[in-house]
Amino acid sequence: MATTTASAKDSAAGSNVYDCPICIGGEWRPSAGRRETLLNPATAQPITTVPYCTAEEVHAAVDAAQAAFDGWRQVPVVERAHLFFRYRELLIQHAEDIARITTLEHGKTLEESRASLGRGIEAVEFATSVPSLLMGDTLGDISRGVDTVTLRQPIGVCIGIPPFNFPAMVPMWMYPLAIACGNTFVMKPSERVPRTVVRLIELLYEAGLPRGVCNVVHGAKDVVDALLEDPRVKAVSFVGSSPVARSIYETAGKRGKRVQAMGGAKNHLVIMPGCDLGAAVKAVLGAAYGCSGQRCLATSVVVAVGEAADPLIEELKRAAGQIPVGSGDSPKTAMGPVVNAAAKQRIERYIQQGEQEGARLVADGRNAQAHDGTQGFYVGPTIFDHVRPEMRIAREEIFGPVLCVIRAKDLEEAVGVVNRSEFGNAASIFTASGAEGREFAARTQAGMVGVNVGVPAPSAFFPFAGWKGSFYGDLHALGRDALQFYTETKVVTSRWPTPSREHKITF
Ligand code: NAD
Repeated sequence: MATTTASAKDSAAGSNVYDCPICIGGEWRPSAGRRETLLNPATAQPITTVPYCTAEEVHAAVDAAQAAFDGWRQVPVVERAHLFFRYRELLIQHAEDIARITTLEHGKTLEESRASLGRGIEAVEFATSVPSLLMGDTLGDISRGVDTVTLRQPIGVCIGIPPFNFPAMVPMWMYPLAIACGNTFVMKPSERVPRTVVRLIELLYEAGLPRGVCNVVHGAKDVVDALLEDPRVKAVSFVGSSPVARSIYETAGKRGKRVQAMGGAKNHLVIMPGCDLGAAVKAVLGAAYGCSGQRCLATSVVVAVGEAADPLIEELKRAAGQIPVGSGDSPKTAMGPVVNAAAKQRIERYIQQGEQEGARLVADGRNAQAHDGTQGFYVGPTIFDHVRPEMRIAREEIFGPVLCVIRAKDLEEAVGVVNRSEFGNAASIFTASGAEGREFAARTQAGMVGVNVGVPAPSAFFPFAGWKGSFYGDLHALGRDALQFYTETKVVTSRWPTPSREHKITF
């Protein structure tokens, strides 16, 4: 296998621009497609060229995955699990390098890159349990001489279409478990952060993956459309914005493919009077400004109930003003840049929109200056108070460090605000009352709920997805849902008459 290395140091200084290779049948090579140049979000300097693959390359990737399927599915499940044990070790060994690539191309802080890779490794650990996870049901002697068992079998070529905001973790929700289940894979990383996936799949081959079991193509809509058109693609794992999630769900569904399409979010965090305000403020800051607000689990609306509102706003304003914004690889930085110039402009337009709608701008992140003097795509922590639920800033996904505070008189009104959102990814409450926590968990229309937890991200052993406009499909990512998604159930009934056991009892 030809090797490449997406190592962060290749172009960290901006001197070399790394040309992202594709991987077909275990061979890494340059694409023949056109290129776009990607900039380091912290410095606006060129670091990568990403190709947009040709239709022939997409076809070749599916050819390779299809050709590898029959052999890979027959590899005993325990051997497939062993491969993922080796992969886990390699990921841990190269974790710092991978985190640096993520920070270089995405902008998030090194600490955030390390933490999200850690969550991805958790998904690999889940994949190592595949022998127990694939065990089915058995009922012997269901009739005389007849036994019935269920088998879980792989479905064939699966594809992964992740978003830009978690360059390692979200792709790792997809290919490890799919491949451990005996499927083969074509991954199309986000065209905004393609290098992290290249490094992840290089290491997967280093762990001993047979050629063709995982393939990598680059590009955007055209490449995804070509993959969706191919009848050999049996399952589609998508994570991204809601309009694209919905369209992929509809297109792939019409073509008889299995689809899980995780969409966008507008997550609420309710603060009740009497809760531990210090803990709540810390949680809000982490949930609203972590990864510069570019998280599907980011809190973008705080619903402050009754007298909780004034002290909360005061504390949030003070603390937000002290968050050091800067390049993700500086140890002093607590919040990195947003991913590119277009994202910065979109977020700043929303801040302007909020002012026009009459919300009170308490902290303005426009014109944020990096503490280290870097000239990247920075937006500082922003807070709007007195936001009303019908405002666009309260309804639409901004996907940046902009926090809206809506004031509500009681829990009933707060739950109403949360449930009227067209999204339903996550929702949290901070409360000192067990009864309020239970009530909120029971009534909130969201897929992931936190009680005194700011970012209710489930570990890889539980399913991960939202409700309503945040998810299109039936089976969520991760957990047993994902296992079902990547396998098909077969029920085998066998009759083997056994004369020694023919003593019939009549009753
Ligand atoms: P995006 O929808 O622009 O892109 C996601 C992926 O789809 C990319 O690989 C992209 O190349 C591809 N794509 C884009 N437009 C397409 C089209 N018209 N047809 C086919 N494919 C297309 O999303 P993004 O900006 O990369 O990521 C941010 C979004 O992802 C946010 O909305 C965020 O909430 C969401 N997200 C959701 C979750 C979740 O679990 N629900 C997790 C992470 C991110």
